Amino acid sequence: MFSKIFGDIGLQAVMAGLDGVGKTTILYKLNLGEVVTSVPAFHFYVETVEFRNTKITNMEVGFQKLYPLERHLIKQANSLIYVIDSQDRERLDDNKLFLNKFYDDEELKTMPVLIFANKQDLPYAIDLPKLTEQLELYKLKDRKWKVQPCCATTLKGVYEGLNWLSFAIKSQTEENKNQKEKEKEKEKEKENEKENEKEN
Ligand code: GDP
Ligand code: MG
Repeated sequence: MFSKIFGDIGLQAVMAGLDGVGKTTILYKLNLGEVVTSVPAFHFYVETVEFRNTKITNMEVGFQKLYPLERHLIKQANSLIYVIDSQDRERLDDNKLFLNKFYDDEELKTMPVLIFANKQDLPYAIDLPKLTEQLELYKLKDRKWKVQPCCATTLKGVYEGLNWLSFAIKSQTEENKNQKEKEKEKEKEKENEKENEKEN
C-alpha cells in the first residue's frame, strides 16, 4: 500500500504532535519496519522508521525551548505530518503555538503539511471547520496543506491523507525545481546585461 502511494518519490517526513495524540500508534500500524528509538539531544526522544526510500521521524513537540532542535529535524524532511487529538480542546492552543512557528519559518515556507485530525472515533471530536479556524490554517495560503480526519487504531483515513501528501510532495518538488531554474535564468540575464554595458 505504502509503496504504491509513494513509488519513486519516497517520503522523508517528520511526524510531530503533542504527547498522547496517536503518533506512535500510526507509526506501528503502518507496519513499515522496525521502529528505532534514539536520543539526538538531551532528553529529546525520536522514533524512526526507514523503509526503502522512506524515512519517518516521529517526535513529540510542546516544549517551546526545543524549537531549534525540532526545526533542524524538520529541515531535513520533505514534508511535515502533524497529528492532533481531535477531542482534546484544551490543548488546541499548544498546537497553535507550534504550528505558528512552523508557518512563520521562512526556510520551511514551501514544505507541504498534512494534519491528521486523529481519534475521530471518539464521540466529541471537534469538527473540521472549527479546527481549521482554531489552528489558524487560513494563514497557510500558498502552502500545500490538508486536514485529514482519521483514526489511528483502524488506520481509517490515514492512507487517504498519505495519498494526498504524495501528490503534494511531487508537485512541490516540481515547483521548487522550476523556481530554481527561473532564478538561474534571471542571473544569466543580469550577467548578459552587464557584459553588454561593458561592451558599450
Ligand atoms: P503518542 O504519544 O502521540 O505517540 O500517542 P500514542 O500513539 O502512544 O497513543 C496514545 C493513546 O491514544 C494510546 O492509548 C492509543 O491507543 C490511543 N489512540 C491512538 N489513536 C487513537 C484513535 O484514533 N482513537 C482512539 N480512541 N484512541 C487512539
Ligand atoms: Mg509516542
